[in-house]
Amino acid sequence: MSSPRTIRVDLAGRAYDIAIGPGLIDRAGELSRPLLAAPRVTIVSDDTVEPLYGARLAASFAKAGVKTETVTVPAGESSKDFASFGRLMNELLDRRPDRKTTLVALGGGVVGDLTGFAAAVLLRGVDFIQVPTTLLAQVDSSVGGKTGINTRHGKNLVGAFYQPRLVLADTTVLDTLPRRELLAGYAEVAKYGLIDDPDFFAWCEANGEKVLAGDAAARTYAIEQSCLSKARIVAADERETTDLRALLNLGHTFGHALEAETGFGATLLHGEAVGAGMAMAFDLSARLGLCPAADAERVRHHLGSVGLPVRLRTIGGDNSRTWDAARLIEHMRGDKKAEGGKLTFVLARGIGKSFVTRDVDETGLRGLLDDAIA
Ligand code: NAD
Ligand code: MG
Repeated sequence: MSSPRTIRVDLAGRAYDIAIGPGLIDRAGELSRPLLAAPRVTIVSDDTVEPLYGARLAASFAKAGVKTETVTVPAGESSKDFASFGRLMNELLDRRPDRKTTLVALGGGVVGDLTGFAAAVLLRGVDFIQVPTTLLAQVDSSVGGKTGINTRHGKNLVGAFYQPRLVLADTTVLDTLPRRELLAGYAEVAKYGLIDDPDFFAWCEANGEKVLAGDAAARTYAIEQSCLSKARIVAADERETTDLRALLNLGHTFGHALEAETGFGATLLHGEAVGAGMAMAFDLSARLGLCPAADAERVRHHLGSVGLPVRLRTIGGDNSRTWDAARLIEHMRGDKKAEGGKLTFVLARGIGKSFVTRDVDETGLRGLLDDAIA
């Protein structure tokens, strides 16, 4: 059988591979067997993904002589609650794991973040493997080693940097993903082009529809380029100590405000908020005279043409939502990216020319928001 595309994430002492391609779920046993400390794994999945792919993944491990157990959590963000995390830890311990047990996360970003954090603290740390099943998880959350859970103080405030031993991104599992989830992940794909890779953004403009429609080669290429971008940035700034990793937050300061205002729920998915946020970041850059207006227009046009909501009026599917610029700015200040109340933005001098700034003139910001709302 042909080898999957492989990307090496280079972290001193903890380097690992991301394999990308069709059918990898059925090869998980064979591909991960050499990395397992012992031939036993516990698969963690959610109750939407497990019925779709759990049996195939388990069969693949069985074929490689690996014993499997499975723990299933409810689908959705609430499985990242503290209480749910406690239940998961006990369910894992019920299965009598030892230090050589490997956890395998089968699911989207929720399952990946949760399982990664569980692996970091179960018996003071066991290995884990990611089998991401959403586009967002394949291009973003499974790369970079951030794991964690939510508390009433906010999302992802308890967690660890903990790298997996292997990531297996099977491109065909995206066929069952709802279109809206696929699009939300696509916003993060386009983001990598906008950060520092204008050729990749141009590729997205030409091939984005193919990625969304399920073209295998286009999907593999988009995921590969995204992982390469994120891996490069993470390898250079693993713990976000310089502004480099912060570039990954393009669109996220605006996006965070939109998510906060819509209650962090189904009204606006994170990736949708990031898409709208990136369009706003480019508009603000153009308004401040930093970026050609034509580039801002290209961003808005591409994201809108694939079906992402890029106009505030259309967010949440009803035209009656009223937005308030002052409230949005308040949300931006409450964002964990705001240091000491100072707003942090990723702006751009053009497509693929993003940079981090902490001194955005509030009048320009206010003007942009007022226009976006009108
Ligand atoms: P998710 O895990 O909730 O998955 C979205 C929905 O799709 C769920 O209902 C899930 O059951 C379903 N699903 C998953 N795969 C499917 C498939 N192949 N077919 C059909 N349905 C499928 O959401 P997500 O967008 O993947 O991840 C969001 C989470 O990721 C958030 O908790 C966020 O904080 C986290 N995240 C983490 C990082 C990081 O660096 N660790 C980065 C970005 C996001
Ligand atoms: Mg994001």
